[in-house]
Amino acid sequence: MVNDGCLICQKHRGEGPLVGPLIHQDALVFVAHRAVGSLGYVFVETQRHVSSLAELTDAEAEAVGWTTTRLARGLCSELEVEHVHSMVAGLGVAHFHQHVFVRHAGTPSSYGWCEPWPDAPQGDTGYLARRLAAYL
Ligand SMILES: [Zn+2]
Repeated sequence: MVNDGCLICQKHRGEGPLVGPLIHQDALVFVAHRAVGSLGYVFVETQRHVSSLAELTDAEAEAVGWTTTRLARGLCSELEVEHVHSMVAGLGVAHFHQHVFVRHAGTPSSYGWCEPWPDAPQGDTGYLARRLAAYL
C-alpha cells in the first residue's frame, strides 16, 4: 500500500526531501541514514504505509526489532558512541518510522538524549550506510 502524498512513501521511491543513503531494504523494512545532520542517525521504516506501531503485523514488528538491534551493533562498531537511542514518535509523518540514533562519545552532559549536539561528528553518510549494510 502506497500513499502518494506521504513523504516516506516518496522517499522509498527515491523522491523528495527525505532521501538519504540507503542501508537496506527487503519486503518488510526500508532502512536509510538521515539525509542531513551528523553521523549515526538512521530510520527503520515499514515498506507498507501504516501510521502507527499498533498497526504493524507480527512479521513487520519482528523485522523492525531485529533490524534495530543489528543497526545498534553496527553503530557501536563503526562509530565512537556512548549510547544508541531508539524511539517511535510518529507525530510528523503518518508512516511508521523508528528513529535509531547515537549519542556520540564526548557529548556534553548538558545535552539531553534527544537534543542535537552541534559539534557531533560529521562525515560521509554514504560510506557509513555501506558499512552498516554489512550488519543486516
Ligand atoms: Zn507512506
